[in-house]
Amino acid sequence: MKPEISIEFFPPQTNEGMEKLRTTVSRLAVLEPEFFSVTYGAGGSTRDRTLATVMEIAAQGHSAAPHLSCIGSTRDGVREMLTTFAGQGIRRIVALRGDLPSGMADAGEFRYANELVKFIRDETGDRYHIEVAAYPEWHPQAKSPREDLLNFKRKVDAGASSAITQYFYNADAYEHFVDQARALGVTVPIVPGIMPIGSFSKLARFSDACGAEIPRWMRRKFESFGDDAESVRAFGLDVVTELCRHLVDCGAPGLHFYSMNQAGLTLEICRRLGR
Ligand code: FAD
Repeated sequence: MKPEISIEFFPPQTNEGMEKLRTTVSRLAVLEPEFFSVTYGAGGSTRDRTLATVMEIAAQGHSAAPHLSCIGSTRDGVREMLTTFAGQGIRRIVALRGDLPSGMADAGEFRYANELVKFIRDETGDRYHIEVAAYPEWHPQAKSPREDLLNFKRKVDAGASSAITQYFYNADAYEHFVDQARALGVTVPIVPGIMPIGSFSKLARFSDACGAEIPRWMRRKFESFGDDAESVRAFGLDVVTELCRHLVDCGAPGLHFYSMNQAGLTLEICRRLGR
């Protein structure tokens, strides 16, 4: 079983972090990912670091895609970013609305990601492969599952090439989402986002904030391990590998790993998947 994979990083804050990421990229490169992506801080706070990290990965000989969020941005600002990306030979962008950072009052000239996708297409034609976000367990601010699905379709209709989902541990949610999207005529690949589990307490905090559910049976089991990091890691690897295997068997077109800038868990999961 050899699913296409992609791997996500966040831009390091220090030179030391960048040095460490170089090693992480080299270790993960053995998986031959289709691309590495680099997140973009809320309101453009990591603009330069995101670009520097993408360029660093590209300099190591790999395909790299910046994330670009539009909330709080102007059209001129986004146009400038697109020109910079083009100048650096970038061909893929993960296009997002993002979340307005606390304290930032001006939402800017884009309200939703579909407007950003349309803007990128209007400005740059077919230059970029545009990835958008999808939410099998629904976006936390969505008015209803139906509205969220229709809003997802808007992004595809605006010109998205493919989608990457928020992470989840309920495979049923992903399968249902894909079925519903297909029923609406959405044909682009919808790649599941995979969050390997290194620390349960961190995962629990993060999941509450982004609306991803940790199923009760998993939560109770992780809680039972307390501070036993080895057991957390072992169970996390088993559960996430099984999830990946199931998703690929069900026809997922690839797997996108949220690596948290670490190589170990992603490598081990992929090794178990036979990559
Ligand atoms: P949208 O698709 O615009 O949706 C946001 C909300 O608005 C949803 O509830 C939707 O139903 C609703 N909506 C959408 N369009 C319309 C419309 N036209 N009219 C009315 N309602 C609408 N965040 C970052 O800050 N940086 C990153 O690098 C980053 N990378 C991510 C990568 C992936 C794969 C994923 C899944 C998420 C990522 N995020 C990132 C988080 C993301 O920015 C947040 O989840 C954000 O709240 C929504 O962004 P979106 O692009 O999905 O927004």
